[in-house]
Amino acid sequence: MRLSQYFLPTLREDPSEAEVVSHKFMLRAGMIRKVAAGIYNYLPAGLKVIKKVENIVRKYMNEAGAIELLMPAVVPAELWIESGRWNVYGKELLRLKDRHDRDFCIGPTHEEVVTDIVRNEVKSYKQLPLNLYQIQTKFRDEVRPRFGLMRGREFIMKDAYSFDVDDEGAEKSYMLMYEAYCKIFEACGLEYVVVEADSGAIGGNFSHEFMVTADTGEDFVISCTNCDFAANIEKAPILDEGVVSDEPLKEPEIVTTKNIKKVVDVADYLGIPPHKHVKTLILKSEDKFFAILIRGDRELNLAKVKNFFDLPYVEFADEEDILRITGGPVGFSGPKGLDIPVYADYEIKYMKNFVLGVNEKDKHQINSNLGRDFEVDGFGDFRNAVPGDKCARCKKGEYKITKGIEVGHIFKLGTKYSKAMNAYYLDKDGKQKLMVMGCYGIGIGRTAAAAIEQNHDEKGIIWPVQIAPFEVVIVPINTNSEDVVNLSETLYLKLKNNNVDVLIDDRDERAGVKFNDADLVGYPLRINVGAKALAKGNVEIFIRKTKETVEVKKEDAIAKTM
Ligand code: ATP
Ligand code: MG
Ligand code: MG
Ligand code: MG
Repeated sequence: MRLSQYFLPTLREDPSEAEVVSHKFMLRAGMIRKVAAGIYNYLPAGLKVIKKVENIVRKYMNEAGAIELLMPAVVPAELWIESGRWNVYGKELLRLKDRHDRDFCIGPTHEEVVTDIVRNEVKSYKQLPLNLYQIQTKFRDEVRPRFGLMRGREFIMKDAYSFDVDDEGAEKSYMLMYEAYCKIFEACGLEYVVVEADSGAIGGNFSHEFMVTADTGEDFVISCTNCDFAANIEKAPILDEGVVSDEPLKEPEIVTTKNIKKVVDVADYLGIPPHKHVKTLILKSEDKFFAILIRGDRELNLAKVKNFFDLPYVEFADEEDILRITGGPVGFSGPKGLDIPVYADYEIKYMKNFVLGVNEKDKHQINSNLGRDFEVDGFGDFRNAVPGDKCARCKKGEYKITKGIEVGHIFKLGTKYSKAMNAYYLDKDGKQKLMVMGCYGIGIGRTAAAAIEQNHDEKGIIWPVQIAPFEVVIVPINTNSEDVVNLSETLYLKLKNNNVDVLIDDRDERAGVKFNDADLVGYPLRINVGAKALAKGNVEIFIRKTKETVEVKKEDAIAKTM
């Protein structure tokens, strides 16, 4: 590509709206432009990065046996009503009506649509297992879209869905995706950790998140300095998922836990799908207060919590309010009012035989118990922990808490959707059985943004070569020297012919301007063709990552670049 004929509008100044590095540099490097809150244009260089991430994702998904298709972005409400999610998904779901007054939504995720395809087309165990994926634009009406592509409202996701004959098969499909995800993030040149993300209402260790470690991450990862334990702190494991029943509710047993340092979002306890309409509920017990974050359908969940605790309560949404009310050591370790742990040094009461909502009228889940190690310390093996505490798993190391960006999430769904939507197959003996499902997501734009969070300096982006908008830029320094121009052109054509993704900065600009732009956009290699070095028969190769410049013979430039 010739920069003089390309569209790469770089900005010299830092845009005021950008709070994080990736957002700032994506704007400055001419990769994206905002259209509305959380909605962006992908300019050509940004689109190139997106396509490179997509192709890495495709490669390893295909290698793992997944098959690409494309589902619609606009989805009829009927499917969502069938799965039971139409009424519980909350405001993140963008609902719309067509001219006939029929309800639709813009898909934030596609379990319903894919289950509909498979139940219609797959009849026999012989057609399973099946893993279908797409790379598609999603819409989630995020309560606080921010950080550019990191938390958009419209964003590109790779979402895959596996269908198996039984749990054993589903476990295999899950592990295939686990491995594929490791390969994908490695191939994108990212430092990442895989963390347990216990899946609330499903129970057990059925969900993993892939976290790119970065200070600007919105998730908190707790890990051990000794063993390989790592988990997302927001997740609330459930010891026993209980059973669905229409029996009258039992009195929940109140368990008192002393000196709780941390109260975490209870959405998962309440069986609420993971999205983030958050409200803080302060409960008062005798003279003590404690705080709970509520998300999902607020009305419903607040009512549930109030019923169970039967304590005077006050609802407040932000930190100042909480501090004012409690006057005590309640602190937030993240942005206000969001899905974050709350620290409180109070004795609190919690529920045994907690009741979870289910997507069936007049039914609920009974006998659910909180926390994997509830009986040990009241909150699972890490929810009480603060940095420096002994690891409950290996009993040797200490906990540390770091921040991460969730770039991927894999999830065992079991029969949740196949049951709600009647996705059956016939087994060897001609018996009807439910398909066992899994779902697997990767945020494409968020992965690109996370790469920038991890790889940059004060001048700009330092792309991992695999996902760089261009791998090499050639900068003719003295554009009035015929030798310089000729050699630059020769190198450009040679690299192009060797399938190197190369850009030539043939603009009529000063070298300083070209260098600054090259540093900003972050091409891994820059070849400087200048009269001075060329007099010795040399060109310079500048390595963006190490900031080293090496002078090489012009004949060797191609070999050294590839
Ligand atoms: P988060 O906790 O950050 O809101 P999520 O858990 O709601 O994400 P999933 O439903 O697990 O997201 O979706 C799969 C993947 O899609 C995520 O791991 C993430 O990479 C990406 N993703 C989710 N929401 C957004 C968003 N608003 N903008 C960009 N990417 C997103
Ligand atoms: Mg979300
Ligand atoms: Mg999440
Ligand atoms: Mg997730």
